[in-house]
Amino acid sequence: QKEEWAQLVGTKTMSRDGHHVELAANIGSPLDLDDVLANGAEGVGLFRTEFLYMGRDELPTEEEQFQAYKQVLEQMDGKPVVIRTLDIGGDKHLPYLDLPEEMNPFLGFRAIRLCLDNQDLFRTQLRALLRASVHGNLKIMFPMIATLEEFRQAKAVLEEEKQSMQDEGFVFTQPFEVGIMVEIPAAAMMADMFANEVDFFSIGTNDLIQYTLAADRMNERVAYLYQPYHPAVLRLIRQVIEAAHAKGKWVGMCGEMAGDLVAIPILLGMGLDEFSMSASSILPARQLISRMSRDEKAKDTEQILSMSTSQQVEDFVKTQLAKTD
Ligand code: PEP
Ligand code: MG
Repeated sequence: QKEEWAQLVGTKTMSRDGHHVELAANIGSPLDLDDVLANGAEGVGLFRTEFLYMGRDELPTEEEQFQAYKQVLEQMDGKPVVIRTLDIGGDKHLPYLDLPEEMNPFLGFRAIRLCLDNQDLFRTQLRALLRASVHGNLKIMFPMIATLEEFRQAKAVLEEEKQSMQDEGFVFTQPFEVGIMVEIPAAAMMADMFANEVDFFSIGTNDLIQYTLAADRMNERVAYLYQPYHPAVLRLIRQVIEAAHAKGKWVGMCGEMAGDLVAIPILLGMGLDEFSMSASSILPARQLISRMSRDEKAKDTEQILSMSTSQQVEDFVKTQLAKTD
């Protein structure tokens, strides 16, 4: 099997019936890139920038960030690279930010909420990203968007920084897309409205599942409720994809679910455009997709969405998968 995978390294991901989907990698630092390229990723679907801020005692400078973003863009050599702005809070802390303890950190002051409130920090990161944009195929992504106003505010801050850089003489030679993570059910429900304003969506199922089923992703006692194949989660995902495609926007997924071999047939059938996963999952996923017809999987979508439990969905897909081999 390893040999079969090796042959897939330099290829595009095509379904048996000739549809291309993009298989990208999640990274946490530029150091991950060797592995990403060795596994034949078609891009970076999620660069978690938290690492730049963690394990130190002060904020990273614009220059430090710029160097890291530039390195990733250059090494990916024109392939798309989605860089997510800071998603701190929730389970991740920064000693030097001195944030108060919260009763419900996952429902609290994190990610875009913190960035919009702490604009110096946010603007520094955006300027580093804007400077890096000329070095490759950058897409900027905001995490934990719940409302349209949040997206508009974040986009406005980005535009202000872009304008001020242009006033200083900086020349933007590369267009870049600006999108959001869909990891809060409200954003999934409102995807049709967001689709008028964003360039792309990336579904963050790690959080979307926990918020949909109200089951803390870190709490083992409620882990039985953390159900990726729950029809409620699947309906939200489908709704986002349909709303986005209706407006000509693309949809990726960067939660763990994107690399799950049971979820992939469902997501392929729903028309997901990009799957971003850990590097080691890419070749097995590419092989699986090459054996499946997207049009056939699409026919299963209605049936899957009319099921009432995760177990039913899982049993159905596993039976189908057994036939693929
Ligand atoms: C997600 O929520 O699915 C996601 C990719 O973000 P993180 O795991 O960093 O919260
Ligand atoms: Mg998340």
